[in-house]
Formats: sequence, structure tokens, C-alpha cells
Amino acid sequence: MPKAHRQARRFLARTILALAVLGFAINVIVAWYCAVFVDVDGTSPVVTISTSERETWRVLFWSKAGAERICSQRYYVVRGPTKPQPALVVPAWTHFDQPTSEWETRAAPFESRLADARGWPLPSLWSVTEKALSAHSSVHNGVVILDVTLPFRPIWPSLLVDCAFFAFAGGLLCAPLIIRRFRRHWQYRCLRCGYPIGQSRFCTECGHTLDAQIGHQSAAA
Ligand SMILES: [Zn+2]
Repeated sequence: MPKAHRQARRFLARTILALAVLGFAINVIVAWYCAVFVDVDGTSPVVTISTSERETWRVLFWSKAGAERICSQRYYVVRGPTKPQPALVVPAWTHFDQPTSEWETRAAPFESRLADARGWPLPSLWSVTEKALSAHSSVHNGVVILDVTLPFRPIWPSLLVDCAFFAFAGGLLCAPLIIRRFRRHWQYRCLRCGYPIGQSRFCTECGHTLDAQIGHQSAAA
């Protein structure tokens, strides 16, 4: 019987691995579906601004189910210091709270970056556009097809949550099948009909081949 239990555990491990792969694949499909069909242009962004002696930092935040878009801009307009609020708004995964080296050294006249994240339940894949909203903008970590950007840079915590969500949903849908198969492995029964396995290489009830379960080398047989 330990062999049957070992096979049952192996079946469970394989199933969990398959569900994880399925969860990841569905996550990518859903994120790209959101990239194509969720339109954030129609929504108005939340705007937060801070000014200091050095710079004005403006952040625009668009949010919709399946999409988040963050535009971070730094430029010289000094209105006197205020409390820096954008740092509270900018998601950590963008790293937009850290100025680019070009802006830091004043090699560029302004800084403008746009992060576009897609996915559901949480945005899990994102692309970044440098020099956003200008004629010289360039997209990184995404494939631009027509006017749609398919992102592929992972937001790891959200990606794990989404993958787990879809894997769990898949597992829940297939639970009756998985449980039945696991029990048949565990109880050393035919996988097709559930009849106890005897000495024969074939199920005496339904004729199903039992080589894998009894550990019979079919090539040597
Ligand atoms: Zn059978």
C-alpha cells in the first residue's frame, strides 16, 4: 500500500503544479485581455502635486477594474515647499518615488514616466513609458500592437495573488475529479472504474491498463 500512497501523493503534486501553470497562463491572458479591452482614457485621473525648492512633482493616477495607470512628472516650477503627497499615491512597484538619474543630475529638462498595469483581480503585469506624453516617448517591458500595449513586466505580489486565485478557482472546479482520482490512487483502485486492483495488469472490471499503478514495465512485458 505505501506504493499506492506514494503514487497518490505524486498525483497530488503533479495536479498542484499543473494548476499553478494554468493559473499563470490564465493570469497572462486576463492581463492582456484587460490591456486590450479596459479603457482608462475615459476616466479622469486623481492628481497629486508636491512642490519643493528643487522641483514640482505631479502624479496622475487612473484606476479602473483590471487597470492602473500612473503618470509621474517632475519639472521646474517652484511655488514654495508643500508636503510631498505623491509619494503616498505612487505604488511601490513603479519606483517612481525615485527620480531618474537624468532628472537628478538635471541632464533632462523634465521627467515624465508612465506606468500602465493590467490584470484582474489585481493589476499584475505592467509596462513603462519613458518621456511619457511627448513625441519621443518609448515603451519598455511591453509589446505595442497598433495602439495597444501588452505588458510583460511582473508586479510579483499581485502576480502571485492572481495566479493563486486562478489556480484555486481551477482546483475548485475540478475538485470532484481530483478527489476521486486521488482516492483511487490512495486505495489502490482502477483509475477508470474504481474497482480494487488485483494481480492482473488489466482491470478485471473494465479492462483498463493498470501498468502505471502496479509499476509494471510495459516494454519488458
Ligand atoms: Zn476498471
